[in-house]
Amino acid sequence: MPQQPDVPLDGLYGDLVMDHYRHPRNRESLGDADVEAEEFNPFCGDRAILQLKLDSQGKVLGVSANAEGCSIIQAATSMLSGLLQGKSLGEVEALGEKFREAMKNGAGDDEVDLGDLRALQVVRQYPVRIKCALLPLTALEEGIKAYRKKAI
Ligand code: ZN
Repeated sequence: MPQQPDVPLDGLYGDLVMDHYRHPRNRESLGDADVEAEEFNPFCGDRAILQLKLDSQGKVLGVSANAEGCSIIQAATSMLSGLLQGKSLGEVEALGEKFREAMKNGAGDDEVDLGDLRALQVVRQYPVRIKCALLPLTALEEGIKAYRKKAI
C-alpha cells in the first residue's frame, strides 16, 4: 500500500491559524489582573490561561493570554486575546456566543466581529478539535463569572 504523504499543518488549518500558533499575541502576564481564568482539558493536555485588566468603566484595558497544548488551542487563545481590548465584559460574552455559534453552525464572511477567530471554522471538519478551539472562551467565561461573584 502506498504511504500517505504527511499533510503539512499549514495546509490543514490555514496560514492565519499557523501564524497565531507560531507568534502568539498578548503573552505578557498582568501583575494586577481583575479577571483571571484558567481551563484545562486533560484529553489532549490543553491549557488556556487568560487575564483581563479593567478600567474604571469596566472595559478591558489589558489582556494577557497563554496556552499550552495543541496548535489549535494556542492559535485560538491568541486570536481571542486580540479581540478583547476596549470591550465591556458583556460585550466579551456576546462575542463568545457568536464564536460558539460559528463553531457549531458556521459563520459568513460578514461576521467581522469575530476577526481572526473566523479562520478557526476550518476546525469544524475535525469535530474532536472543536473543544480545543473553544477552551480559551470557556476559560474566559468562567473567569468572568468568578469576577462578578467577587464584585458583589
Ligand atoms: Zn487540543
